[in-house]
Amino acid sequence: MKSPAMNQAMDILRQLRTLTEGEEPLAQKLDKIVALIAAGMHADAAACYIAVDDTYLELFASYGFKAEAVHKVSLRFGEGLVGEVAKNSRSLAAADAWKHPKFSYKPELGEENFKSFAAVPLIRGNRAIGVLAVQSLQKHEYTRAEMDFLETVAMVLTGLVSSEEMSEYKKTLIKERGISTKEKHKGISLSKGYGLGNAVIHRRRQAVSKIFAEDKEKELQKLEKAHSQMNADLDEKFTSTKIGIGEHVDILDAYRMFAKDKGWYKKIADNIQSGLTAEAAVERAYEDMWNRLSGTNDTYLKERLHDLRDVADRLQSYLSGDIASVKGVDSDDIVVVAQTMGPADLMDYDYTKIRGLIIEDGTPTMHVAIVAKALNIPVVAKIRGIFDEIKTGELLGVDGTEGYVYINPTLAVKDKFKAKIAAQEELKRKLEELKDLPSKTKDGVRINLSINVGLSFDLDYIKSTNCDGIGLYRTEIPFMTSDVMPDVERQLSYYKELMDRAGDRKVIFRSLDVGSDKLLPYWSFGGEENPAIGWRSIRITLDRRAILRKQMRAFLRASADKELNVMFPMITNLAEFEEAKETLMLEVEKEKRRGGAVPRKVNVGLMIEVPAVVFQLDNILPHADFISVGTNDLAQFTFACDRGNPKLTERYDVLSSPFLTMMKEIVSKADQYGVYCSVCGEMGGNPIEAMALIGLGYRNLSMSGSSFGRVKSMVRSMSVEEVSDYVNTLLHSSKRTLRPQLIAYAYDHGIEIY
Ligand code: PEP
Ligand code: MG
Repeated sequence: MKSPAMNQAMDILRQLRTLTEGEEPLAQKLDKIVALIAAGMHADAAACYIAVDDTYLELFASYGFKAEAVHKVSLRFGEGLVGEVAKNSRSLAAADAWKHPKFSYKPELGEENFKSFAAVPLIRGNRAIGVLAVQSLQKHEYTRAEMDFLETVAMVLTGLVSSEEMSEYKKTLIKERGISTKEKHKGISLSKGYGLGNAVIHRRRQAVSKIFAEDKEKELQKLEKAHSQMNADLDEKFTSTKIGIGEHVDILDAYRMFAKDKGWYKKIADNIQSGLTAEAAVERAYEDMWNRLSGTNDTYLKERLHDLRDVADRLQSYLSGDIASVKGVDSDDIVVVAQTMGPADLMDYDYTKIRGLIIEDGTPTMHVAIVAKALNIPVVAKIRGIFDEIKTGELLGVDGTEGYVYINPTLAVKDKFKAKIAAQEELKRKLEELKDLPSKTKDGVRINLSINVGLSFDLDYIKSTNCDGIGLYRTEIPFMTSDVMPDVERQLSYYKELMDRAGDRKVIFRSLDVGSDKLLPYWSFGGEENPAIGWRSIRITLDRRAILRKQMRAFLRASADKELNVMFPMITNLAEFEEAKETLMLEVEKEKRRGGAVPRKVNVGLMIEVPAVVFQLDNILPHADFISVGTNDLAQFTFACDRGNPKLTERYDVLSSPFLTMMKEIVSKADQYGVYCSVCGEMGGNPIEAMALIGLGYRNLSMSGSSFGRVKSMVRSMSVEEVSDYVNTLLHSSKRTLRPQLIAYAYDHGIEIY
């Protein structure tokens, strides 16, 4: 390859300018431009990549490569040689591209036989908006003159690439691909994880078209057929969905019983007798119930209305022959989009194909969210208007971790999703590898890592993580997903299962922690103005002592001949702790008198969630066998910041001097009194926060099973002594957040915090 002679170069630049200013459609212009560049550089191939957003380049025109590669090849900034040029906004040349460490092979391009490579960025406002590349079959060292020429060409092209014409062209491409530009929607997360799939619109509720029946007998037969068909299908679906045992199964069972309710069926039949069609009769039966119950404050009855609406919708679909199905979308990866949804509705779909769920009217305690969680499906809710906006088959990205939905995501976002999903998988693999390695820091300090358990699904993590114990069993979860208050026997079955599956591991039971956002469907908490600081948690169970006593009894029986660890949440002073402890001890005595087997040892602890307790540690610690810091509530009360309010999540940070100082005070006092101290709030499950906690002196952390692998790999890559020195220097900082410093520290010291 020769460098273009001066005259020739000027001639090419002139032709280029004429081309860029010409009237031809942009795609053709670009094709001619790259051909001209290849000729001018005596190269065998040339390509023009254009940035489609801040992170992504797409091949817009090429000469000498496979023609079908245009608009198919895309690269991240930093990916391969072209991506490197874009990322650094700097030209790059290689006599043999294959030998360059940054080279990444793109089979779609057909570049197998090419050797030499040169590329220059198209720069606007210090930023690369595209890359121009040439390649040749022979090895070739590019001269300064050649690179200068290419850079001049790039300057000429920059005007075209940043022109109005180009942005119109991009818009047309977007339209042709059916990509909506308003693609990101913020909602709330009901179940974490990432999923990518095609939209399936869950539509069921339709207006009843015919009200009055011509033939009552026919309508009754229709009802009977639809009703039995619906129930047979429900039975079939529920038994074929193997989702383990536990609360979510209870929910589905309750729903099934409801669908079979004789009183409801009779009401519909009576309505048909009075002259209505079967569909209208179902609607009337619902309306009657709604009129009677909708005014109630009773959350249990309100939930039942929800179920009734779901079952009524379902029956109407059977009556009209319009059963929701996924047949309309031919994809192995689906995202179900619903206005609202009952737990049974999810079973209409093959759950192994569901990659995400979007529920416009969803709330965290709704049953379908609990079932979805148990099935590991990410769920996002509360995005107004999303149900009408999404069309069947559209590609959707569901970010259940942050609570975002992406409609027709760009290549860049799609790629990020794929990376997140791959990371999820990778993490699972890594977890497998880490499972049998010790949870020890680089300087040999053992850190006990336990898991938090709520849903029975979480129990699977005991084995898959090989955790040290269960640092928090949220006993309220089975209470929340049950239709009635579980009696001692029922509770015992939950607790025994946990004890059996935990084996020799330490298990910490927390007494019922309801109220605030944790509602019981069968119990009204009375609509307080500030439920988070109202009648909740230990305050309720001390006032309703029978509930506490029954729970203690179930704990004791589940731990017969084993060690029992019980902790009480939201303790605000020593008196409360002593009262709760006494209740437990009285039950121990009763069990003994009754001749029942009692635990080998009973340890009693409390959660540190209320700031007032931090100032009474000297009084309380001598009476406690252990403490566990509930950082979720402790942070909410320390910063006076509702933990569930998305508007405030960015405002205050636990990684700041006031909170870290408080955390240090707690662990130092516990050490002073020789009391076992752990953290079971979210802080313990977030690698960078867990790193800071270990630096402050914590040696016991408990977290959700899904966070375990990440925390363990962080632990194994840190040095306690070094981190401790660093964290302690930050404690006097007046910065709003110390997160950036801690992250930078982790990166600099090779601490794994992904
Ligand atoms: C906490 O508050 O940190 C805690 C672990 O309890 P919960 O999240 O269940 O309120
Ligand atoms: Mg709490």
